[in-house]
Amino acid sequence: MFSYEEIQQIRNQFPMLKNNENKNIYFDNAATTQKTVQVINTIKKYSCNLNSNVNRSVHFLDKFTTNSLELNRKHMKYFINAKYREEIIFTTGTTESINLIAFCISKFLKKSDDIIISHSEHHSNIIPWQVLSQKNNANLKVIPVNSEGALNIRVFKKLMTKKTKFIAISHVTNTFGIINPINKIIKTAHKQNSLVLIDGSQAISQITIDVQNLDCDFYVFSIHKMYGPTGLGILYGKKQILDKLPPYKCGGGMIEKVTFRQTLLAGLPFKLEAGTQNMAGIIGTNKALKFLLNCSIIKVKSYETKLLKYAIKILSNINGLQIYYKNSKLTKILSFNIEKIHSFDLGKLLTNYGIAIRTGAHCAQPLMEYLKITGTIRISFAIYNTIEEIDIFYKYLIKCLELLS
Ligand code: PMP
Repeated sequence: MFSYEEIQQIRNQFPMLKNNENKNIYFDNAATTQKTVQVINTIKKYSCNLNSNVNRSVHFLDKFTTNSLELNRKHMKYFINAKYREEIIFTTGTTESINLIAFCISKFLKKSDDIIISHSEHHSNIIPWQVLSQKNNANLKVIPVNSEGALNIRVFKKLMTKKTKFIAISHVTNTFGIINPINKIIKTAHKQNSLVLIDGSQAISQITIDVQNLDCDFYVFSIHKMYGPTGLGILYGKKQILDKLPPYKCGGGMIEKVTFRQTLLAGLPFKLEAGTQNMAGIIGTNKALKFLLNCSIIKVKSYETKLLKYAIKILSNINGLQIYYKNSKLTKILSFNIEKIHSFDLGKLLTNYGIAIRTGAHCAQPLMEYLKITGTIRISFAIYNTIEEIDIFYKYLIKCLELLS
């Protein structure tokens, strides 16, 4: 566990927190995390002194960027324990990674095949599958959840048939922070020869990911949720499956030879990376990985769980407050509602005191509709948050409730 001094040292690595004269509190880390000074400086230094494109020219700047990009691909391979470097595809984020797969598997999906998702997915892991199933006349099946938002695995097993070709499920839900039983889901899916995509957006900063051990076919996440730059995501896919996929976008960087008669595609990973990459972002990502590894992901999780347990304890003092899913497997996300209080009203009042929380449906409208609520109040922690911040949040929360009552 981190000492008070260690957390202060960590906070000092984040300019947004170090220069925080107004003592603002940032509890919206499930939406995006702050970036370390090392990430920011690396991007700045690269942009000021070394900027160039990759794999296009023979000059020294191109060589530097190309080598750095491929080195960072290797670091990412080790970070999630992929087997091959070619299994790491750079995208713009989780959303693009999922859209890429939904687009590319279209040619393998026949009429009346089934795609399975769950009731608690983020819109980014619903809409691409809805569009694909409509385009291919396939069926989109949805694993139901219980009143707390947890998956009903018994029904999932019943939904699985020979017609199931694809399952897309989040590792940790962004609404209530539920850890889904993805090991069980992957094993069950593979028994029926179905492919599985795991949306790791909310897991990647807290859970050590070993894609070979998980045996998932695809694992996707965004770098901006793990202290790194925006505009960058990762698509991991098993090489033998990615090899069979058609390109998602076409253009520069993904070809061996182009003639007007036909185009010969490059191999992986370039086949799926058309166009100019977010070079500065990729180079800055290495510092985010280093930061997380230096902190130790296991220690990050246990510290954030401590914050969450503390928040649950003090929030439980409030009459009429309902916490969604406070089981023993806590993550970093806490969603709640308070009787007769609209989440937006509370969010708007708290922002006057410099407290940033998330309110609303959290890009999961089907889940909110199912639970018959308009939304929730969500606080989500990162490694730089503190018990003192939770105390201040609690103090102002009580003040806001008095104003609203
Ligand atoms: N899936 C989940 C579970 C998420 O939490 C998010 C971001 N809130 C996304 C997908 C989409 O990520 P991005 O906007 O970075 O593509």
